[in-house]
Amino acid sequence: MPYEVVIGLEVHAQLLTASKLFCGCSTAFGAAANTQTCPVCLGMPGVLPVINGKAVEFAIRTGLALNCTVAPMNRFARKNYFYPDLPKGYQISQYELPICEHGWLEIGHNGTPKRVRIRRAHLEEDAGKNLHQGIAGASHVDLNRAGTPLLEIVTEPDMRTPDEAIAYLKMLRDILVYLEVCDGNMEEGSLRCEPNLSLRPVGSPTLGTKVELKNINSFKYAKAAMEYEIKRQTKVLDEGGTLVQETRLWNPEKKETAPMRSKEEAHDYRYFPDPDLVPLHISKEWIEQIRGTLRELLDARKNRLKEQFGLSDYSVDVLASDKKFLEYFEKCAAEDKSGLSKIEVGKELANCITIEFRGLARKMNSRAGFEQSNTPLPLRHPDSSEYGEIWQGTLIPAKNLMELVAMKLRGEISGPIYKAVLEEMFFSRGKTASEIIEAKGLTQVSDEGSLEKFIDEVIAKNPQQVEQYRGGKEAVYGFFVGQVMKASGGKANPAKVNELLKRKLTQ
Ligand code: ADP
Ligand code: ZN
Ligand code: MG
Repeated sequence: MPYEVVIGLEVHAQLLTASKLFCGCSTAFGAAANTQTCPVCLGMPGVLPVINGKAVEFAIRTGLALNCTVAPMNRFARKNYFYPDLPKGYQISQYELPICEHGWLEIGHNGTPKRVRIRRAHLEEDAGKNLHQGIAGASHVDLNRAGTPLLEIVTEPDMRTPDEAIAYLKMLRDILVYLEVCDGNMEEGSLRCEPNLSLRPVGSPTLGTKVELKNINSFKYAKAAMEYEIKRQTKVLDEGGTLVQETRLWNPEKKETAPMRSKEEAHDYRYFPDPDLVPLHISKEWIEQIRGTLRELLDARKNRLKEQFGLSDYSVDVLASDKKFLEYFEKCAAEDKSGLSKIEVGKELANCITIEFRGLARKMNSRAGFEQSNTPLPLRHPDSSEYGEIWQGTLIPAKNLMELVAMKLRGEISGPIYKAVLEEMFFSRGKTASEIIEAKGLTQVSDEGSLEKFIDEVIAKNPQQVEQYRGGKEAVYGFFVGQVMKASGGKANPAKVNELLKRKLTQ
């Protein structure tokens, strides 16, 4: 039976505050065990937690960027369970009144823009760490991490493939990093992802029994674990079995998931509002002020681009007019392996994205039957499903574009060929510059014999201009270069043409 895959993600982002969520202890990583603790995060009786304003600010900043509503009043709750790394016997979290709700992120996976709804984002404290290695017959507990602020971001079950879930996760990570609220490091656990996955018969309106996946510390493992689960669940259902709702752990060595706990042994957390913490009231003014800092972040980023890549105000403004442009630019620049200067590469790349792409998008839109748009950025045609593809880098993967830009900068291809290849890349989906150049026979002509033939032809055909040049009118030189390039179909190596042409004309 064909099944539909249903995925929802729970992501824990460790917030980059200097101190913990309810006490002044440092959150710095790597200190000796239990040196960054105090009576509050050790869970001593009689102590009182005090909320860290920066953590609340970061949660609001993230909520705004994720299109959430920020609750004017929200509250902390106790999530009760026993574990050695949780000295209070409960974790302070948020339950029925989270700080952010009802957001969304648009992922442009495979060209079709798709909205993943975000159910909630709430603040909570992290637990400590149990250490099982190095001590024979004993386990130790390090509470340095206990009380570190986390933002848990939970989606609706809106994703339908592991690739879609990864696209969401990557986009979320990029946003958190850009907002400077989380370092986004999955390997070190500052960004933790728990996919929930179920199957249901195609067309079924009800959700199937889900499994929650843990112990995933990279995009690679996230994808592998989800793919494994799809196979496992399909097999169980095909054989007429039933699935149990459970938490399963990814085992990277065996490349499989195994049950950790089932619903029968699932915790009853007995959530209740934390009586030690007053409800959190968030004023409109504060929210607006934080919205302003989002703009400042953008300005800082624009300045960085100007400095790093020598971009003009105009280029930076066009790029910054949509975060997706900026992200694509930076993604491409990061793929540059040409060895050329950042300024050289940055300028060419910015020209390509802000000017060449505009022309190509016009063509794309008119091919798709859309009116030619006169807006400054016709790439943003709202009905064009291809729109997302450009900036997701699926239309022209960043690596491919950089290969082409480097070829142009090194003079390996002429301007007209650059444009022709770019257009082909734009419409051919994923072909590389070298593939296109080879397939279309656009390889540059550098051998002197062939070039001399073109030059001799041009000289023979234009005696008048030759006379002018030899008579001292140097301005006609450009005419010859143009004619030779034209004769070669744009394939002549410009540097070589120069050299030979000068020689021939002065002979
Ligand atoms: P739990 O209480 O077990 O954490 P929730 O209902 O709070 O479950 O959902 C947790 C995550 O699982 C959310 O991201 C949600 O979208 C997702 N989810 C819920 N039900 C399903 C399902 N049947 N299949 C896939 N994902 C699901
Ligand atoms: Zn402390
Ligand atoms: Mg859960």
